Amino acid sequence: MLPSDGRFGSGPSKFRPDAARALVERAVDYMGTSHRKAGVRRVVAELRAGIADLLGAPDGYEVVLGNGGATAFWDAASFGLIERRSHHLSLGEFSSKFVAVTAAAPHLDEPSVRVGDFGTCPPLEAVGGVDAYCYPHNETSTGVMLEVRRPAGHDEALVLVDATSGAGGLRFDPSGCDVYYFAPQKALSSDGGLWIALMSPAAVERIERLSASDRWTPAFLDLKLALDNSRKDQTYNTPALATVFLTAQQVGWLNGNGGLEWAAGRSDRSADILYGWAEASAIASPFVDDPAIRSRVVGTIDFDDQVSADDISAALRANGIVDTDGYRKLGRNQLRIGIFPAVEPDDVEALTACIDHIIKHLIA
Ligand SMILES: *Cc1c(COP(=O)(O)O)cnc(C)c1O
Repeated sequence: MLPSDGRFGSGPSKFRPDAARALVERAVDYMGTSHRKAGVRRVVAELRAGIADLLGAPDGYEVVLGNGGATAFWDAASFGLIERRSHHLSLGEFSSKFVAVTAAAPHLDEPSVRVGDFGTCPPLEAVGGVDAYCYPHNETSTGVMLEVRRPAGHDEALVLVDATSGAGGLRFDPSGCDVYYFAPQKALSSDGGLWIALMSPAAVERIERLSASDRWTPAFLDLKLALDNSRKDQTYNTPALATVFLTAQQVGWLNGNGGLEWAAGRSDRSADILYGWAEASAIASPFVDDPAIRSRVVGTIDFDDQVSADDISAALRANGIVDTDGYRKLGRNQLRIGIFPAVEPDDVEALTACIDHIIKHLIA
C-alpha cells in the first residue's frame, strides 16, 4: 500500500531520479568546469529561457539569477528594489521573515504590514506612500495561496511576489507583478542555494536607478551586478553547478510535457485527492477553511484530538514516508504535505490510505 516514492516534504521536496541520472551523465564534461565558459553558460542560458517559457514571460521581462536562495533575495530586494517603504501581507513564517528584513534595514522606512491569522489571507489593498508591495504566491508554512495581482489603484509601486513554493506549480498572470522570485527546491523540485527572478521592465528600471544612487549595497546582494551577469548567462560568484543543472532539467521536463498548465493540473489532481479525502474523513479536515485560498501545492491537514499528528508522521517516517510534519510554529495537530508537480497523484492517494491505516491502529 506504500506510495512509489515516499517524499512529501514542502522543501526541499521530491525531485525526479531521472534528473539526478542526467546529472551523472554530465559528471565528466559539465561538473567541475568553469562557470565562465560556454559549457556551463549554455546550461544557464537553457535555464533562463526555460523559465521564461514556463512562466509565460511577457515581452520585455527578464530572468535574473543569483546565489543564496529566496532568503538572500529578500536582503537583495531591500537594497535594490525597495526605494523607501514597502507594504507587506504577513500570513505565516515566510511572509513575516521578509517583513523582518525591511523592518531592520536602516536605509528604509518602517514597513507597512497587514497581518492575517494563520490559515487566512489579509486583503491586498493600495496603501499611500509605499513603493513596493510584497506577498507570497503560496505561504508554505500554512498552505494558503494568493492570487498574483496588483492592488487596485496602485501607481508606480512595484509588486514583488515570493513564489518559492508556487513557481512552476500554480497558474498565474505574470503581468500581475514586477518580480516573481523563488528558490528552486520547492515547487520546482530541484536543489537549493539559488534564487531566480522573472523581472518586469519597471523592476529593471528601479534596480538601475537605485544602483546609480548613493545607497551602499554589498556586492553579493547587488541586483545590478546580478542583472549584468545574468544577461551574460552567469552569476556574480560561483553557483552550485548541480543546482543549476537540476533546475534546468526540471524546467525542461515541465515544458516538454505541456508547461505550466500541465504542471498545475498535476498538482490540482493531487490537491483534489488530498482535500477530498480530508473532507470525507471523520478525523481529518483541511486546515484552510476557504477553498479559494486553500493551496494546490502545499496541503495542510488538521486532525482531531483522538490522534496525534506527530504520531502519524512518526509512523509514516518509520515506513519511508518522510517530511509530512506540520510547521512547528503553527502549534497545531497537523500534517503538511508537499503536492508539487513532481509528486505522483497516485502516490497522494496511497498516502491517504496509509494515514487511514495508521489512524485505525492508533485509535484501536
Ligand atoms: C522556503 C521558502 C523561502 C526560503 O527559501 P530559502 O531558499 O531557504 O532561502 C522563502 N519563501 C518561501 C515562500 C519559502 O517557502
